[in-house]
Amino acid sequence: MQSFKWINATSVAEVKEILAQQGDKARIFAGGSDLMTMLKERLDMPELIVCLGNIKTLKYIREEKDGVRIGAMTVLADIVGHPTLLQKYTALAQAAEAVGSPQIRNMGSIGGNLCQRPRCWYFRGPFICIRKGGDTCFAVNGENRYYHAILEGADCFMVHPSDTAVALIALDADIIIAGVGY
Ligand SMILES: Cc1cc2nc3c(=O)[nH]c(=O)nc-3n(C[C@H](O)[C@H](O)[C@H](O)COP(=O)(O)OP(=O)(O)OC[C@H]3O[C@@H](n4cnc5c(N)ncnc54)[C@H](O)[C@@H]3O)c2cc1C
Repeated sequence: MQSFKWINATSVAEVKEILAQQGDKARIFAGGSDLMTMLKERLDMPELIVCLGNIKTLKYIREEKDGVRIGAMTVLADIVGHPTLLQKYTALAQAAEAVGSPQIRNMGSIGGNLCQRPRCWYFRGPFICIRKGGDTCFAVNGENRYYHAILEGADCFMVHPSDTAVALIALDADIIIAGVGY
């Protein structure tokens, strides 16, 4: 793993400021269950990691007049066991429960689940595929039974692996994004 600097951010405003300054040199770290594997495999080599773990305002499940709001740092295990979600938004609770293992659900946040990189084994493995600067998507003629698009694709046929994304789309959820400039 390439060495990097680490910052424990304490607010969303601070994260935005850091990202505005550092641009593509920085990565956000939530639970780390996906990002750590990317770093260890040298698939991603940022100079700076910005950890969201200390931003307590991003961890909540709140029932409101027009629905339920979930903070990006809410871990999947909390979504699985939340009474309102179980009762009114069952698909989301069930989707969160389908993710990985108890360890992954205890560490993994909903924000990270939605932003995780696709798990194509050509991308994750020692192949210089089109996503890593090569000129071929090996999945087209290779191992493409489980994780690759079967209906349409562009140059790369990876599909996103997030279980919760499917439920959120079915429930017509809105995502509020904080970023540089907004
Ligand atoms: C063994 C294993 C099995 C798994 N099985 C499944 C499965 O069956 N179904 C499924 O859906 N997923 C599965 N996953 C993926 C898992 O759900 C994700 O790794 C986890 O949800 C990511 O959350 P995290 O908080 O650890 O994210 P991190 O690893 O910290 O971050 C993941 C990515 O999202 C970005 N990110 C994180 N939070 C934010 C934010 N708030 N704003 C902007 N960017 C952000 C990070 O920069 C990084 O690029 C599996 C993972 C593993 C390791």
